Amino acid sequence: MKLRKTKIIATLGPATESPELIGELIRAGASIFRLNMSHAAHDWVRTVTDHIRSQAAALGEHVAILIDLQGPSIRTGELATKWPLEAGQRVEFRNQELDPGEELSTTTNYEGLHGDLSVGDTLLVDNGEIHMRVERIGEGRTVCEVITPGLMGSRRKINLPGVRLNLPALTGKDHRDIALASELAVDYVAISFARNAEHIRELRETLDETGCGARIVAKIEDQEAVKNISGIITETDAVMVARGDLGIEVNIEELPVIQRNILRECARIGRKVIVATHMLESMVENPLPTRAEVTDVANAIYEQADTIMLSGETSIGKYPTQSVAMLDRIARRMEREPGASFFDAIELKTAKQKTVHSAVVLANSLPDSKLLIFTARGVLANYAAHQRPRESPIFAFTPDSAVARSLVMNRAVSPFEMEMKDNPEDTITAAISRLSEAGYVEKGDPIVILSDILKPDFDTDAILLRRV
Ligand code: PEP
Repeated sequence: MKLRKTKIIATLGPATESPELIGELIRAGASIFRLNMSHAAHDWVRTVTDHIRSQAAALGEHVAILIDLQGPSIRTGELATKWPLEAGQRVEFRNQELDPGEELSTTTNYEGLHGDLSVGDTLLVDNGEIHMRVERIGEGRTVCEVITPGLMGSRRKINLPGVRLNLPALTGKDHRDIALASELAVDYVAISFARNAEHIRELRETLDETGCGARIVAKIEDQEAVKNISGIITETDAVMVARGDLGIEVNIEELPVIQRNILRECARIGRKVIVATHMLESMVENPLPTRAEVTDVANAIYEQADTIMLSGETSIGKYPTQSVAMLDRIARRMEREPGASFFDAIELKTAKQKTVHSAVVLANSLPDSKLLIFTARGVLANYAAHQRPRESPIFAFTPDSAVARSLVMNRAVSPFEMEMKDNPEDTITAAISRLSEAGYVEKGDPIVILSDILKPDFDTDAILLRRV
């Protein structure tokens, strides 16, 4: 069967934490598992990581693990009972040490809140359910008028659309979770609410200090990140269009425009891009998605995203395996159609990128061709994937299993772990034999070979053309 190009991330949770379900999700087509640190305890992460690795080994698949940091989210305090709020009521948010100044008064976990807000700002509670407007700001306290009614509970998330927040890039909890990511040698770490390039640099330094080799995913979740998007994309390894928070932080009709612009910019700069959240939301409860969801997934594939992500559908949903299988079906169908041509605008800066470009142009010109890449650090394979070869699959051979796992996030790349032989000819023959045995190549197929490790110095990039 033809290989699917678009990759699938499944978020794990109570619905899918068992080894059996994880194995099912891999068989259905998931190649990356996301562990959401907003909900995950460290011991649970350790157990689930073991399950993922043993299931991947049993199935002979490369499967990556993505730890998604909670980031600096602002939350309401503890309430004795839930508040049924009516439009026109006043709610006070105050610092922990202060006494209530209003009948409805609660604390937040962010002392700097009152300094960042201005009168008239919008404050949204519980994923945008309850809309308030800032009416008064005092020393350590802010009073809001309720605009839309709703039931407010404890520790609900607060979003502040358009407000520039002085929150840190990483919280104390994030640092503890990064230590865990390092202990478990996971493949990707996602930074929530990354707002500028400096936040990505801070995470990279922290990962380096803890000896964690994970690649970085920058989650784009608010207006500030959108404003600073080029700098963020340049610094990161991958970008996630995190539509859950983004859809609250921007006017909702802007969301498809922002998604498309981020994909265009990732195409121009050459970075992996994930489209996430509410892709098949109705499948949390139902065995089939809505027509609109199918069309939304198809749109992300038309835009040639590297990866699409499931959240609640697989973490708490009733139909997790069916949700992955549904993404697989939609992706395979859409990949038979021509995609967006954003990737024609890629900037080729280095000689290595230009060499890869020549190989991709060659592969595009040869019917049934395949790209075969030997890559020590994954760089050549990343470059080839960013250039979106029209039809050719990319088979990436590397001696490093961590590099192989990192490449499961790239569109159209199938990674293989293999020791390089002393003689380059033997390496090529061994790789083509493996592809033949797996049924990925047939006699007569043109193979465009791209390598920087056939010579020991990494400096010699070579393009070869063979027929199987
Ligand atoms: C999102 O907001 O879309 C997202 C993926 O982040 P989280 O689920 O952690 O809020």
